[in-house]
Amino acid sequence: MKYLSTRGNASNLDFEGVTLAGLASDGGLYVPETWPRFSEAEIASMRGLSYIDLAVRVMTPFTKGSLSEAELKELCEAAYGRFSHAAVTPLVQLDSQHWLLELFHGPTLAFKDVALQLLGQLFEKFLSGSDKALTIVGATSGDTGSAAIDAVAGRERVEIFMLHPHNRISDVQRRQMTTVLAPNVHNIAIQGSFDDAQAMVKTMFNDPDVNSVLNVTAVNSINWARLMAQIVYYFAAALKLGAPERKVAFSVPTGNFGDVFAGYVAAQMGLPVERLIVATNVNDILHRALSRGDYSVSGVTPTSAPSMDIQVSSNFERLLFDLEGRDGSTTAARMKWFEQMGKMVLSADMRKRASFFASARADADETAGAMRWAYEQCGQIIDPHTAIGLHGARTANIAADVPVVTLATAHPAKFRDAVEQATGIRPALPGRVGNLFEREERYEVLPGEYAAVRDYILSNAARPALL
Ligand SMILES: *Cc1c(COP(=O)(O)O)cnc(C)c1O
Repeated sequence: MKYLSTRGNASNLDFEGVTLAGLASDGGLYVPETWPRFSEAEIASMRGLSYIDLAVRVMTPFTKGSLSEAELKELCEAAYGRFSHAAVTPLVQLDSQHWLLELFHGPTLAFKDVALQLLGQLFEKFLSGSDKALTIVGATSGDTGSAAIDAVAGRERVEIFMLHPHNRISDVQRRQMTTVLAPNVHNIAIQGSFDDAQAMVKTMFNDPDVNSVLNVTAVNSINWARLMAQIVYYFAAALKLGAPERKVAFSVPTGNFGDVFAGYVAAQMGLPVERLIVATNVNDILHRALSRGDYSVSGVTPTSAPSMDIQVSSNFERLLFDLEGRDGSTTAARMKWFEQMGKMVLSADMRKRASFFASARADADETAGAMRWAYEQCGQIIDPHTAIGLHGARTANIAADVPVVTLATAHPAKFRDAVEQATGIRPALPGRVGNLFEREERYEVLPGEYAAVRDYILSNAARPALL
């Protein structure tokens, strides 16, 4: 499979290339040249497969040319063998229409493990036997950081610098990152917001002072391999609920538009998806864009769902590229304008083409209300991110005979203060995270200025192998 940039001005790469590159050199995001498509019979034949076998079926079209099927299977076994549930992403019924897809059975209790455990394996596979080394630089609003650090801690040829907004993530989230003391792991707390941190990472990728000495790459969901891994569980859930004969809707707690974009790809590949509900909290740029065409940046409001406290959703560019008829120069012009003006308008025509997506917004009361409903009516304790998805699922206009699957993106214990406030129940941390609160923490607090962060990284990187 060949991949091209959404901005049409970077060289095409194969799967190995896009996995190691992250962002394209023209500032765009890599997407497959075409969406592979399964026939109805092919989808029907996936029913009953184990998660790992299903993952191999769904991902093979994307990895062709870079990995054999046997190699891909080995990597999936290593990545998903670390999950605490044999089904990897089990489905739980709430009522006659609503279901939860539990994506939090990985080592760091959030759905990002599904993608990052595989990405860690892919990095090792592609770097082994070469003299290349990678410096991962990432920004996290909480969950990406711990999942990425867990996936690469102690691995050779990979070093990671992870930026998080100081005091804006939960104590569990922070400790899951800062108590990993492997020498290839560096945590940086930025005095600023997640968007400030993410903007710095983007700047760094285009900074020759950095690129001349380090082979930097991204693990944010701008990395194609992450999105690819997330397509699998849409297939897993829909197959259990009757696909391909029956349509299924999904409600997705959304921040960077990565997870929900994976659902869009699943639909492009032939999975019968009735609707994708883009569920946001009060940081609602995507809800405004999809419902009114207003994609404009405003300040970030901290909420009980910090992994969704985002104002600019990087992966939205991948959808815009498709909505523009996959025209890279139009997308590049649109993104340049947006980066300068902080806003763009989606025409009625573009919104019509995006009408496969519904959107919803949950404020603090609605989020807490959804947590209470799940607990009181269905006996399920859910985290605030999942609650925002469930609110979207229950308020969307979906026919009663279509199952609606809410993606449960984090374990409730990861956000136990908010869960306790809403339900009175304080969920216990599962045994697999160990004695998180007794371990030593290590991280550096830096001002929210690009130069300070760049200098810190340049002076602390081991530089095991230069480009
Ligand atoms: C990252 C994250 C999200 C948002 O996912 P995107 O792919 O960024 O849209 C939602 N919930 C949780 C718990 C997360 O960690």
